[in-house]
Amino acid sequence: MPITQDDLVRAPRLPAVPVLSLASFGRAGATLPALDQAPAVALVSSGRIAIGMALRALGVSSGDAVLLPAYHSPSMVPPVLWRGARPVFYRVHQDTSADLADIRGKLDPSVKAIIVTHLFGFPQDLTALCALCDAHGIGLIEDCAHCFFGRHGDTAVGTSGDYAIGSSMKFFPIFEGGCLVSHRHRLPDTLSSAGIGFEAKAALATLEASFAHDRLRWLGAVLALPLRLKSALWQRIKQRRASSASPDAGSAGAALAPSSSDSSFEFDPSWVDRRSAWFSRMVLRRSARARIVTQRRRNYQALEQALAAVAGWRPLFPTLDDGACPWVFPLLADAPEALHAQLRAAGVPMVRFGATLWPGVDASVCSNSAYLGRHLFGLPCHQELRPAELAGMIAAVQHALRTVAEQPQ
Ligand SMILES: *Cc1c(COP(=O)(O)O)cnc(C)c1O
Repeated sequence: MPITQDDLVRAPRLPAVPVLSLASFGRAGATLPALDQAPAVALVSSGRIAIGMALRALGVSSGDAVLLPAYHSPSMVPPVLWRGARPVFYRVHQDTSADLADIRGKLDPSVKAIIVTHLFGFPQDLTALCALCDAHGIGLIEDCAHCFFGRHGDTAVGTSGDYAIGSSMKFFPIFEGGCLVSHRHRLPDTLSSAGIGFEAKAALATLEASFAHDRLRWLGAVLALPLRLKSALWQRIKQRRASSASPDAGSAGAALAPSSSDSSFEFDPSWVDRRSAWFSRMVLRRSARARIVTQRRRNYQALEQALAAVAGWRPLFPTLDDGACPWVFPLLADAPEALHAQLRAAGVPMVRFGATLWPGVDASVCSNSAYLGRHLFGLPCHQELRPAELAGMIAAVQHALRTVAEQPQ
């Protein structure tokens, strides 16, 4: 059934990811532990690069196997292939936690590392997995890409494994950024700069995203002319790069930005050991962290309560744990295809996490992952949503769910 204008409650054009505003800055203290409060921290350009560096630090190489959750981001796999290792996917439970019995069954001498993911910002209990890894001499990598802040009970995220990785740009208003941390090991203390072009891009792309969503307007007015000059310059740099035959040795590879920032699943090894841009590190350091945690939790709860009035969905997690700082609000839809069409037409930003899994990972590998990939919608709940934007999105989602419920099955 085609969707007409009358069928729609349009969401305001809200930012799908955090954008920089004046309120982004403030006192550093947070109400939950943060991933980068570790004795060893390396701020790099993306989470996947941090995974690659963690695998390298664990000595993973060709002939080794690395266990990964069957419910995953496909961006987690290329770093494993970069090491020449073989990815093996273990099952997850309905609540996305790791299936320990399946992991045990998949252990053999070739397994060198296990990656475990705290999905959607809900920390899982790693006590048993940690003990298993230690008993077998297997490296444990905590994937905190969805979980920059949080704890399970008294255990802070990122403290259980050998290494933990984060995708800072999922939580902070920055163009690029990932981190590799460890509470057990030292890290390479020599990261190199990715070059002045990258530094400029990281700052300007962040500001432009902010201006595009009507934030920092006064700064946008001040910078209007310089930004236009920059665009002209940028065109010339791109043309020059396109015409030069050999990749530039001075800065990282041919691309000016890591592939994480364009939602592809690529892994470009030239970003390994490259430092995150100065601007991104500055925002990370100066962000109002308590606000990130409080606002995300508040927005999550507002979505949960408002949507409870309509049928056709259920929350992935029955309650918001005290120790969780959500990445998105994950809901399971009864009729995902119809809801997807409605939300798209209404302009509601959403992530269908796991809709694309690594080739070969299907219901025969893990039926829960296949189910989640088909039914799960992640709605933005980040700290930079304005009250009117949140209210508009809630109205649009309620309307979409009601419309789907009225459609003939
Ligand atoms: C996004 C993501 C990554 C990779 O992070 P990037 O910063 O995009 O490279 C790793 N694991 C999970 C679960 C993710 O969602």
